[in-house]
Amino acid sequence: MAYISRNPYTEQVEHKYASISDAELESRLALAHQRFLTWCETPVPERCETLRRLAAAMTERRDALAEVLTRDMGKLKAEALAEVDGCIATSVWYADNGVRLLRPRREHGVNYKGGVYEIVPTPTGVVYAVEPWNFPYSQVTRVLVPQLLVGNTVVLKHASIVPTAAVTLERLVEEIAGPGLLVNLFISHAQSAAVIADDRVAGVALTGSEGAGAIVASQAGAALKRSTLELGGSDALIVLEDADVARTAAWAVRGRHRNSGQVCVSSKRMIVLDAVYDAFVAAYRKGVAGLVAGDPLDPATTYAPLSSEQARADLQAQVERAVAAGATAEEVDIPLPDHGWFMRPVILTGVTPDNPAYAEEFFGPVTQLYRVADEEAAIRLANDTPYGLGGSVFTGDEARGRRVALRLDTGMVAINRPVIGGADTPFGGTKRSGYGREYTDLGLYEFVNQKVIGAG
Ligand code: NDP
Repeated sequence: MAYISRNPYTEQVEHKYASISDAELESRLALAHQRFLTWCETPVPERCETLRRLAAAMTERRDALAEVLTRDMGKLKAEALAEVDGCIATSVWYADNGVRLLRPRREHGVNYKGGVYEIVPTPTGVVYAVEPWNFPYSQVTRVLVPQLLVGNTVVLKHASIVPTAAVTLERLVEEIAGPGLLVNLFISHAQSAAVIADDRVAGVALTGSEGAGAIVASQAGAALKRSTLELGGSDALIVLEDADVARTAAWAVRGRHRNSGQVCVSSKRMIVLDAVYDAFVAAYRKGVAGLVAGDPLDPATTYAPLSSEQARADLQAQVERAVAAGATAEEVDIPLPDHGWFMRPVILTGVTPDNPAYAEEFFGPVTQLYRVADEEAAIRLANDTPYGLGGSVFTGDEARGRRVALRLDTGMVAINRPVIGGADTPFGGTKRSGYGREYTDLGLYEFVNQKVIGAG
């Protein structure tokens, strides 16, 4: 099993890391568990202080941290900086809210003396995080930070194409808080199964594909452990006839092409009412045609390569299958550099329900575009997908947007902008997009024992 950082713009290998042996895996698990035994006794305000130190260290090294992301998986430097900022904000939010969220709660129960008992959130052990490459730091910190706050420690199996980001984060946490709070594991899928089965591991949080989610969750189920799954999505972006078309198109370009479209909550299916379809499509096409492909470290670049050669090949093959099944693919003709794993943006039309693309997630710069007669048809189409992660509604009437939002079968809906994650807002989906929530108190309590204590 290879853990290799290969720069998606230069196509050069930058770092290679050896996978660890079973003996090394055992000592790394022991390290995380030993640290858990003292960390779980550390008072909550001290844990909050550690999170503040993490935020400060990230702030100090913001630029260097961001560059690692761009070199590992190709995202624009500006987007990498925004990702680091998001991690800093997550650490600060949990540090600010930790004492409040972990305070024991008094409740009423007739079986206890005085009719009162307490619920005390207590840590459960080592949490195993299996994370993808699209946001190499923030996918980790959205699990790591709340778990550290509740008193758990974390072992990490990061995606095999972003090992430098994994090592960088591990070293940073070690520098500010000593070893064992975040322990990186360069392991195989077989070793991953052993981690899940290990008694020291309390549960597993996975973000990634449905395939990986199904395997990891079944392994957790067999070991009677908790799991959370944040899987794919095929978010609808609904444009109602009263939307501000220019503004909507600008958001749609960003919502579909941020991170080169490799985002679970990308606006993947544009569902546009007939009355504004032509105007929207003209503005959208113009916006996409204005994207500038180039070196992702160059601030002038607005369109980055895909994360790997394989990701590009898979996406191109998926577009070809859609066309073979009757869809029309329009490649937006932007100039591309002569190296790097770029793919021109594609707009797919004529995707009918019998086309496999209709129910698939396109994890990259491919837009599915649908024309519908009215609001009812838009809602019906938006819900006709196996996924249920996010979605957005663009309208001049927020109350109408809310009514539509209530009828969308997803975990999150944003009105007049695409969904964007952040520590102060719960994140997660329904249907085949997974279960469990990240961020806020909901993410904090996923691997907590809500212990009841009361006198008789
Ligand atoms: P994967 O689901 O394969 O990878 C995500 C993580 O799961 C990686 O760390 C991967 O490790 C790990 N993993 C995969 N299979 C197993 C297994 N059997 N046991 C233990 N760990 C496992 O995603 P890909 O990178 O292959 O992307 C494929 C698709 O997944 C995308 O097209 C998209 O649909 C979806 N995806 C969704 C994301 C989201 O944010 N929700 C993010 C990324 C992908 P390793 O790299 O070693 O295989």
